[in-house]
Amino acid sequence: MPKLSKERLLDRFVRAVEIAGWSVGVIGTPSHPFTLYLYREHDAFNVLLYIWNITHGGRHRPHDEYRVQVTGVPSIEQHPEYKTLILGYWEAQDVFAGWDATFHSGPSSFSPSLQIREQYLLAAVNNNFAVCPKDQGELAIAFSPSFLVTYCRNLEGLHGAGTLPQEVNALTRIAEQGTIDEVDLAPLPAPRQRIVRTIEQNYREASFRRRILTAYSQACAMCNMQLKLVDAAHIIPVYDPQSNDETSNGICLCALHHRAMDRVLIAIAPDYRIIINEVEIERLNLEGLGEGTDLFKANLAKIIRTPPEKIQRPNPDYLQIALQVRGWPF
Ligand SMILES: [Zn+2]
Repeated sequence: MPKLSKERLLDRFVRAVEIAGWSVGVIGTPSHPFTLYLYREHDAFNVLLYIWNITHGGRHRPHDEYRVQVTGVPSIEQHPEYKTLILGYWEAQDVFAGWDATFHSGPSSFSPSLQIREQYLLAAVNNNFAVCPKDQGELAIAFSPSFLVTYCRNLEGLHGAGTLPQEVNALTRIAEQGTIDEVDLAPLPAPRQRIVRTIEQNYREASFRRRILTAYSQACAMCNMQLKLVDAAHIIPVYDPQSNDETSNGICLCALHHRAMDRVLIAIAPDYRIIINEVEIERLNLEGLGEGTDLFKANLAKIIRTPPEKIQRPNPDYLQIALQVRGWPF
């Protein structure tokens, strides 16, 4: 498989950011390393992105060793306002790997080749991410595109877990089971427990979003809109203790219909019919805020479009609970 150019590698990075519902801005002119900012509504951070193709280590190296060859840069830099990302991308399996910049920054510790074992790259294809222990407490992290933003947000926390074997175990449990319990966390110091809990929460968000967007082919269940304008919405809202991250408690909605459902302008009946809150629309009309009502109604289907797999479709019990939780008036 031919190596990807730097522009193509940047494109893979941008696509992965967008899968998570975030956007990418370029600071200055795009040249390697790339200076970028990642943003979503009220969140933003800057990254300095080094990225190379992941290739096999070569015939004189172990058969399961993969690596990036650090070329074209005099050294790896770190700046206080940027998260430094040292990434590899393996086109064959659509998977990334990240190495810890604190181990590889500057000319003195400069290493021309950074390795990762195949088993971790393959585990990340199925589990979203995999934690690969290396020497002296260093961790490399393999991850799928849908986990990339979670990786960036928790960069220091993930790579910083390498000195405690129990923390490596806790992260591995998140990757393999999607959750951890108090027994896994108990051996860790309190600050590290909070870091692992945040990673778990971000992981679950990313996993939920990936499952929902895949099940609905990234199209709004109410109007069929795609255009990367869709969200993974919870049917029972997350603030309610009855909510969960099952696929059958999720639905893919465009930004407009997600907001309209949260505003209780529309809802979904347990038989999947879309119902409109005429009382609220009447109230808005009386306030002089009813402009767009006809267009809004015309663009709504009568019934939501559901995934082909029955197990992925909204659970009618959850739809009923959601009506009560949201105080649906009828
Ligand atoms: Zn829509």
